[in-house]
Amino acid sequence: MLMIVGIVGAGPAGSTLARELGDRAILFDPSHPRDKPCGGGLTPKVYKRIDIPDKLVESKMDELIIENSSKSVRVKIPSVLSVSRRDFDYWLLNEAVSSGAEYISERVVEFYRISNGWLVKTSKDEYKVDFLVGADGAPSLVRHKLVGPHQKMALAMETTLPNGSSNTPGNVMRLVFFRDLYGYVWSFPKKDYVNVGIGAMEGSLDSDKMKSRLFDLFPDADRDVKPWSLPFSLGRAGYPDFALIGDAAGHVNPITGEGISYAIRDGINLARAIKEGEPSRYETYWRKDFGSELVSSLKWSSKVYRSIHTLMSNKRFVEKAVRLLLDGGRITTFKLLWYYFL
Ligand SMILES: Cc1cc2nc3c(=O)[nH]c(=O)nc-3n(C[C@H](O)[C@H](O)[C@H](O)COP(=O)(O)OP(=O)(O)OC[C@H]3O[C@@H](n4cnc5c(N)ncnc54)[C@H](O)[C@@H]3O)c2cc1C
Repeated sequence: MLMIVGIVGAGPAGSTLARELGDRAILFDPSHPRDKPCGGGLTPKVYKRIDIPDKLVESKMDELIIENSSKSVRVKIPSVLSVSRRDFDYWLLNEAVSSGAEYISERVVEFYRISNGWLVKTSKDEYKVDFLVGADGAPSLVRHKLVGPHQKMALAMETTLPNGSSNTPGNVMRLVFFRDLYGYVWSFPKKDYVNVGIGAMEGSLDSDKMKSRLFDLFPDADRDVKPWSLPFSLGRAGYPDFALIGDAAGHVNPITGEGISYAIRDGINLARAIKEGEPSRYETYWRKDFGSELVSSLKWSSKVYRSIHTLMSNKRFVEKAVRLLLDGGRITTFKLLWYYFL
């Protein structure tokens, strides 16, 4: 008999898994259609794995301006697609439903192990599933009950700016760095507005100072912002009878803050393991796919933020290093020296 998989959360991680599993997936999430605090930037790591309909692409950013208080550099980059998370996540959820997954628009409030599976309690009902998946984002209930807190966190906040007021053309991504911030301010153009935000390692700057940096740069931005967590974990995410995927697993890049591509890859990797009848192979699959990329990014993140102000004078270095971050791969001393000197 086929294993029935209960997936808590229909963000990119949960909906991708449900889309891959079809009628053996039950997907719980009361929130759709909904927005999600996010820049909505999709790197090649995403669109090389799933086809994204043109109608979802609000802008295609193929140039990047990196700046600090005294200089700036403009480079060509592999395109980053800018989407609305409300539309992108709703599209993915509908893809999951079209592939046969059952969608239950209810919040999971509790779950218990029972013989041969789990009893999942929602705000309205109870459901029996064989395998449980925590795809419930950074504050994950599943993670907190079964594994514990994340190893490391960053803070990020985002808001909107009327189109035209940031002096940023539709195809340009802008990143601003500060000497006392292990993170950056971003500006991602959309169709009718610009998404701007700031993200930094926890403890780097408090959230009030982060807000002032953002509003100093973008005085016209909507002031209604609040801080959100970006979790980083490299611990175990696959277990014999449950798994964590996406932000619940802590699979976010510690240099860029990118999480959507890892969420989608987690969904694909876990589906593969489940279809093979060996869900615990997921642990091997995600580590093989991008484990070394996350480990090396964690190792290099504070060095990158410290040295970016010097390195940005070397335009060719910036172009190559940004390409590595956007396309994916392990950062090594050899690669960085090669980019710097050749
Ligand atoms: C300010 C900010 C900007 C960011 N910008 C980018 C960016 O530009 N590009 C990028 O790649 N990443 C970005 N990220 C990271 C990215 O948003 C996440 O990594 C990504 O959304 C993770 O997807 P997920 O499916 O794991 O979780 P989520 O997208 O958080 O989805 C989790 C879902 O679970 C549901 N849920 C939660 N609890 C329950 C429950 N008990 N029962 C049922 N459902 C539940 C929620 O309603 C939600 O729909 C950003 C993050 C922040 C905070």
